[in-house]
Amino acid sequence: MLYNKHIENISSINNEFRYYKTIESLFELDQWSSLPSEGVTYRQQVAAHIADQKANLFFSDKAKQAADFFLNSDLNSIDDDIERALVRTFLFRYKNAVHTPEELIRQYNLIKADTMNAWKLARKEQDFQIFLPYLEKVFELKKQIALSIEPNKPAFDTLMSLNDEGANAEQISCEFNVLSNGLKSLLDKIKSSDVKPSVLSFEDIPTHMEAFARRLTCESGYKESCGAFNNQVVHGFASFLGPRDSRISTPIHGRFDLIFTYLHEAGHSMYCSGGNDKVNNANLWGGIEGGFHEAMARFNENMIGRSYEYWQYYFPQLQAEFPAFNDISLDDFYLSMNAVNPSVKRISSDEVTYNLHVILRFEIERDYFLGKLDCCDIEKRWNELYKKYLDVCPENPTEGVLQDMHWAGDYIGYFQSYALGNIYSGQILQAINSDIPDFKSDIKNGKFDRLNNWLNENIRQYGCIYTASELAEKISGKSLDAKPFLDYLNNKYSKLYKLKDCDK
Ligand SMILES: [Zn+2]
Repeated sequence: MLYNKHIENISSINNEFRYYKTIESLFELDQWSSLPSEGVTYRQQVAAHIADQKANLFFSDKAKQAADFFLNSDLNSIDDDIERALVRTFLFRYKNAVHTPEELIRQYNLIKADTMNAWKLARKEQDFQIFLPYLEKVFELKKQIALSIEPNKPAFDTLMSLNDEGANAEQISCEFNVLSNGLKSLLDKIKSSDVKPSVLSFEDIPTHMEAFARRLTCESGYKESCGAFNNQVVHGFASFLGPRDSRISTPIHGRFDLIFTYLHEAGHSMYCSGGNDKVNNANLWGGIEGGFHEAMARFNENMIGRSYEYWQYYFPQLQAEFPAFNDISLDDFYLSMNAVNPSVKRISSDEVTYNLHVILRFEIERDYFLGKLDCCDIEKRWNELYKKYLDVCPENPTEGVLQDMHWAGDYIGYFQSYALGNIYSGQILQAINSDIPDFKSDIKNGKFDRLNNWLNENIRQYGCIYTASELAEKISGKSLDAKPFLDYLNNKYSKLYKLKDCDK
């Protein structure tokens, strides 16, 4: 039967695609950890060859025939979840590979390095004008590339979809409005609170803190038999190398927030390695990329790792390991680690203000691609939005519009993922609370089994067979809903900052 033949071909293309992705992830891990400077040139040649082989998978006759067969069919008519996912991911990759215009990509690649250099120079000189001509060029090229891939779709939706499959700016804008209004109102109340957290400045021997963070990570459910730790990098990340192989890379330092870097990456890794046998055999392991993956990481980092119950269990152990903490109470420690400080810097922001940083970047990108904002007005808009959302003003473009490398580093249509991650993490928490209302009592006793069993059964086992919207709907009844995340923050921060009339 023709259907079975095409499924077989799509499945073998998917296998090869995943093998190439594993090689690319290994290269990335190696590049940030131990690739020697004189090894870079040859590695780039190998990486370019692998990228070509990966793209070529979609130019074969069997790929074209399978695409023709399924392109105009209704995917919902495919009953089998695995087969439907294989077809969906195949068509998505096929369209991107076949319709990506080579000439535009060539032009984009030609200015990529110069764009990054211009951004670095602009930061050094604190002058947005140095970066502006490059920004104009890369935004315009990205728009044309997106319109070549999907001529009938808004360019920004196509760009976002490369990271968050199916992303739709209209729907996201709606939820981001709900989120930003709620956050602003919470932030105003926090600012008028009398509670003032102290600043924790603690630093111990890096290897000592690392050993502690690794123990907590393993106790939270991360299995070293399905991964490994690596401390040779500057920023934390997780590498997805196989269905039972997800590595955690982190920097090494002696501050206690190293624990949160570990818990974040462990959230990604445990999600990656939690696929069931059917999912793994079909090479659909790894979890849903983009916002949903971020949700699993932020859930582990913040909703578990920064919760009061977590530290009810671990704070005495932290004090036993690091006696400097004997001078502070659990309550003050908990307040300090969750302190809210509106600032101009996204990277070091807290749970409440973080999303405002992200939403304003999303709005700038969206408005540019809608034709409502010119590149030359981006710096001005940036500063206006910081004033509006966070009531702060960057002193210069280096700490303002030039702070993130994303637009210089080929991450355009990417910022939404961070805030989507937080929204989905709220929906996950809501679903767990409804199924296991007393799960926090486990956390208070250092027990993670019931939580991990729930996450395995309801999320991790499915790998990437569903889209983020489908899975969010399956667990919480809604495809995207900012309210549970806002409820979580309002609840947590009204207790922390002793807020009176909080809209809980
Ligand atoms: Zn992450």
